[in-house]
Amino acid sequence: MESQFEQELEQLRRDINACAELSAGLEPPAPRRAKWSSAVNDYCEQFLESMDDVAPAYRLPGSSTQHDWSAVPEEGNGDIDALLKTYAAEVDGSGLNPASGGHLAYIPGGGIYPSALGDMLAAIGNRYAGVAYASPGAVAMENGLIRWMADLVGFPATTAGTLLSGGSLANLTAIVTARDAAGLKARDVEHAVVYSTAEVHHCVDKALQYAGMAEVQRRIIPVDGQRRMRVDLLREAIREDAASGQLKPWLIIASAGTTNTGAVDPLDAIADVAADAGVWYHIDAAYGGFFMLSPQARERLRGIERADSLVLDPHKGLFLPYGTGAVLVRDRETMLRAHRYNAHYMQDASADEISPAEISPELTRHFRGPRLWLAFQLIGVAAFRASLEEKLLLARYAYRRLSRWRHMDLLGEPDLSIVAFRFVTPGFDADELNRSVLEQLRNDGRIFISSTNLDGCFTLRLAVLSFRTHESQINLALELLNDAVYALTGHAPAETEV
Ligand SMILES: *Cc1c(COP(=O)(O)O)cnc(C)c1O
Repeated sequence: MESQFEQELEQLRRDINACAELSAGLEPPAPRRAKWSSAVNDYCEQFLESMDDVAPAYRLPGSSTQHDWSAVPEEGNGDIDALLKTYAAEVDGSGLNPASGGHLAYIPGGGIYPSALGDMLAAIGNRYAGVAYASPGAVAMENGLIRWMADLVGFPATTAGTLLSGGSLANLTAIVTARDAAGLKARDVEHAVVYSTAEVHHCVDKALQYAGMAEVQRRIIPVDGQRRMRVDLLREAIREDAASGQLKPWLIIASAGTTNTGAVDPLDAIADVAADAGVWYHIDAAYGGFFMLSPQARERLRGIERADSLVLDPHKGLFLPYGTGAVLVRDRETMLRAHRYNAHYMQDASADEISPAEISPELTRHFRGPRLWLAFQLIGVAAFRASLEEKLLLARYAYRRLSRWRHMDLLGEPDLSIVAFRFVTPGFDADELNRSVLEQLRNDGRIFISSTNLDGCFTLRLAVLSFRTHESQINLALELLNDAVYALTGHAPAETEV
């Protein structure tokens, strides 16, 4: 009996150890780690060093995009250099290059270097940042960074907030909080009313849908000539709805920098309306919020401190690599109530700090803190502030120059760092012309801009937010635009520029 048991254990030990040996590749020894990391480091250095001259902002996908990513080898080949060649060709070789200063499309991204090192720290130690009990230090770091953001925008000490994957999840988290704060149940949804302009980011529509509120009443408030919310019409709409006896004004969503044109809604005046009506006030500042660091933009953003909830995107305005958004809620109790949970297997997890898992949809999550903390500590916030100031000035510089060009439709002076314009050369179909201009720039690739539809008109937009965008990229963008229009029409729009 005993010996059979012993034999069985012996066999189990042999099998266990055989598996351990076969899986040893999961723990590469120090020399192999050094080889891999130096190869990746060399690749990154070359990428960064060639940024200005070689790497275009956009490269049309070539025929090389045939790589079979589903081919997973049974044995690793260890040839890191060959793998990096594949990566260079198949990933870094086509499409939009968000790391380039020539990226002036959509909302440009960042990718500051210390954040990559912060990610390395987070990945190697793999600290559990979802729950304070598991990693008090990780959660304290992130909560400290949230505190910094709350102070930046003027939110009170009662604020809670967390770092999420981006603005979309942050908006969802805020909207769910607003829903529960108003005590809205499924049966109330069709009577609840959301107020925003048509310029609000489409992730808000998705968030309402995820929040079970697809049937909510949407009031699209008209915008003024600068595409900012008409506060008089907002007030009127809320008054009408409240008087109807059927509807419950629930949520105002203002944009602190629309993705479309960078327009900032009149945040302070909207706060008055929200306060008078007792309606939740949410501000989506995913694009524009960090311009609070810039003294020249603070006046434009006045009133941001009066929101009930606020979204910021550090992977936009703080130049972090993708994967970091932030949500702030002015009253932490409201936020906790909306995201509370109870699970027996979490019974050990109690701590003084609020944990990300208590105030967001996430449990296990990327430890996002180090990418921001290391960058702030190594670089200092002054450089971020100066870069954001530079972006505002570059947009104004582009706007000023374009306003001297012939046959242009220009939206007014940009609120922040996006310039929207279109060429209206007489004798040419404007939509077609601007579409062709965009195509010419894409074919060239050194500068990448995008387009939008403003009141049915195909409109070009130049968005400045990359920390690598400087005067030379704006000059090049304008030169390419002028050349493209000249090539297409025989008229050089910049001729009258002084
Ligand atoms: C980018 C953006 C979003 C969405 O954020 P993601 O980080 O892309 O998920 C939401 N609102 C505004 C105003 C944005 O610019």
